[in-house]
Amino acid sequence: MNDNRGDAPRIAFLGLGLMGAPMARRLLDAGCPLTVWNRTSAAAQPFAAAGAAIGSSAAEAVREADVVFTMLADPAAVAEVGAAMAPALRPGTIVVDTSSIGPDAARAAAERLPAGVAYVDAPVMGSVDKAAAGELLVLAGGDLEPVAELLAHFGTVRACGPVGSGAALKAVLINAVIGGVVLTAEALALGKSLGLPDDLVRDGLAASPLAGLLQRVSTTTAHYPVTHAAKDVRLASAAADLPLARTVLDRLLAYPDLAAKDLAVIADRIVAEA
Ligand code: NAP
Repeated sequence: MNDNRGDAPRIAFLGLGLMGAPMARRLLDAGCPLTVWNRTSAAAQPFAAAGAAIGSSAAEAVREADVVFTMLADPAAVAEVGAAMAPALRPGTIVVDTSSIGPDAARAAAERLPAGVAYVDAPVMGSVDKAAAGELLVLAGGDLEPVAELLAHFGTVRACGPVGSGAALKAVLINAVIGGVVLTAEALALGKSLGLPDDLVRDGLAASPLAGLLQRVSTTTAHYPVTHAAKDVRLASAAADLPLARTVLDRLLAYPDLAAKDLAVIADRIVAEA
């Protein structure tokens, strides 16, 4: 894609939630011509103030776009928004879905696009803090070459293979992280039950292979809602027989009051209850 602003691709960004807002902001801050849309329109207003155009609907937002990014909650949201925008997509447009929806839904989304519209699945690893800093890991499936420079605004881009492969790797990685967070929380809970000082247990874990997971359960700058974690475990469990994932899902669903909180808050609750 051409970096010259006059010839720069016109971008539409649909979905300005916890992740979509900072990702769209990075495109805007980089000078990309941007039209945004969000189902709940209030989320788009700060973008108007910062120089973006606001689409009155998903279809209006994508009508002039060369590249359409979507960052939506789940497969149902991607299907709904995909159906709404499809009639307005022009041949030659590239749709890049960064939502975490699993490989089956990603391939289905690609198949629903009009002829001549390309699709890249590009879900991301990393939360809101990394999104704002442009330090996500972007897991891209499909022909990403035409959008590689744009994706680089979000972080490091990893080419995974054909359409659906980015979504598949995302399912693998996030399922491992979620399970690891619950496992690490239970290690901290066990240490507490055995009467060990919390610092001692954390120091031990920090020197173990679980060091990265200990960081994840200790962070206060991520916001990955538990409800999305449960969705991601369900997506993984639908693809393979994963007994541990079933147990992890039970743990996530045991605290409905935490559904909108970051995953690390589940770990805090598990330790608090020990
Ligand atoms: P979020 O804050 O809940 O935002 C979800 C977005 O989807 C909002 O813009 C919401 O619009 C929109 N949406 C939901 N249902 C819709 C529908 N039926 N039609 C149109 N729009 C709809 O979620 P998020 O944290 O940004 O996560 C988005 C995706 O990224 C998820 O797949 C998540 O698993 C993944 N992800 C999240 C993180 C993280 O740390 N948060 C990290 C990596 C990946 P409204 O504003 O109108 O509700």
